[in-house]
Amino acid sequence: NSARSETFDVVVVGGGPAGSTLAALVARQGHRVLVLEKEFFPRYQIGESLLPSTVHGVCRLTGVADDLAAAGFTRKRGGTFRWGATPEPWTFSFSVSERMAGPTSYAYQVERSKFDEILLRHAGRSGAVVREGCAVADVVEDAERVRGVRYTDADGARREAYATYVVDASGNKSRLFQRVGGERKYSEFFRSLALFGYFEGGKRLPEPNSGNILSVAFDSGWFWYIPLSPTLTSVGAVVRRDMADKIQGDRERALTALIAECPLISEYLSGATRVTDGQYGQLRVRKDYSYHQTTFARPGMLLVGDAACFVDPVFSSGVHLATYSGLLAARSINSALAGLVDETVAVREFEARYRREYSVFYEFLLSFYEMHHSEQSYFWQAKKVTHHDRTEMEAFVDLVGGVSSGEAALSEADAMVERLRADSAEFAGAVDQLAHSEDGSMLPLFKSSVVSQVTREGSQVQMRALLGADAEPEAPLVPGGLVSSPDGMFWLPASSG
Ligand code: FAD
Repeated sequence: NSARSETFDVVVVGGGPAGSTLAALVARQGHRVLVLEKEFFPRYQIGESLLPSTVHGVCRLTGVADDLAAAGFTRKRGGTFRWGATPEPWTFSFSVSERMAGPTSYAYQVERSKFDEILLRHAGRSGAVVREGCAVADVVEDAERVRGVRYTDADGARREAYATYVVDASGNKSRLFQRVGGERKYSEFFRSLALFGYFEGGKRLPEPNSGNILSVAFDSGWFWYIPLSPTLTSVGAVVRRDMADKIQGDRERALTALIAECPLISEYLSGATRVTDGQYGQLRVRKDYSYHQTTFARPGMLLVGDAACFVDPVFSSGVHLATYSGLLAARSINSALAGLVDETVAVREFEARYRREYSVFYEFLLSFYEMHHSEQSYFWQAKKVTHHDRTEMEAFVDLVGGVSSGEAALSEADAMVERLRADSAEFAGAVDQLAHSEDGSMLPLFKSSVVSQVTREGSQVQMRALLGADAEPEAPLVPGGLVSSPDGMFWLPASSG
């Protein structure tokens, strides 16, 4: 039956932030894009705290930023942390100075069911064919490349869709990523478990920080406290993985006990009640193990978002990496389909940049954990870089390998530990300065090397989205590498960029 087999330029598996971003950016170039999504939207998802580069960078490039602005999400000016040496909470703001909040120095806290639906509908309006209730079972391949996918549609019929590129954006639960080859490597350092639920009537931080994420370290791990609306709060505890039995046994009891262990969160929830019905009614458990696939692409197939890699949620980087990788992959696909750049070169650029961005966050998060100390706590003792053996550091060096700054020191795991220690100390010092500063200036933090690295690429994407052709020309990431076109939609050789 010919209706059961169709041909597109790109088939995207999964309609989360990674898939919708890529689909919109490729469809807007006039290419035929099919998005196959297993669920019917709106559907629940975790990952509610965003970064400015998603909101003002990637989402401006896809054209969905105004829809997001109209949706009424909580504005997030930054993060407030009870973390590190300072006993009082300190606040990181996305603007360099507390008093100078620029027009793009905020992000949103989002109900993902709403946010993801806005992005998926926007992909549809951008020209992509979006089909919900369609679960992809496998890829179709030959000796040369991946040629398409097999899926079951909403009526239960088996179908095939062929395409020049299959993009796996199916998140962390799907197994499709295995078809790209290589191996999924898990980090020992970041293996933990999250237990989370929703509350009505929790307290808010004093203005102007009422929309901030509040992250609180305590002996068993750390809490997130995310204000989704004036009254609804997402609350989650991240704890050791060996507490799994305790948590799975009686989730309600486990969460109550963890909250009782953490004075600040207890205080914020003192007048609140847990939501017990609807999409927020259950207490959920997720492993938040960090991992990365050793290869992100093969001929005819690319991995984006959680299908490719995931890093610990403490700095809200998941949706940033998902949408940013969607943008990188879209540039590669747009350039190859238009014949501007050789496919292999275009895909190599995607992988190098994505890997670099992932490793920048990975390194930042190592520093983040390194700065909190608690003598009695197993959780925090295990989160010391120096307590990990060479293999963990070697895995990290492999990850950075070839795409980082090229410092010779990076080739040595021991040298890496030294550098991480120095960076962590510098970061902890900057936090200390911030916590004790009178004017709330963020300068010391933004100047510290791990923070400036982690904000660099995001601000570049924001500038590109805001200024288009007026933005400063980019430097290639690697000598002889590609740069983005003035409109941000393609890769070009550096000389003509
Ligand atoms: P997803 O959002 O998972 O979307 C994938 C889609 O693919 C889904 O809709 C799914 O239904 C569909 N799909 C799956 N299999 C198939 C198939 N076979 N066929 C068709 N469709 C399929 N990130 C943040 O930015 N901020 C946070 O505060 C944050 N907190 C987190 C807390 C925890 C405990 C965890 C575990 C993660 C957190 N994250 C956070 C990370 C965030 O959840 C993810 O990084 C993000 O959702 C990844 O987006 P994605 O588009 O890659 O995948």
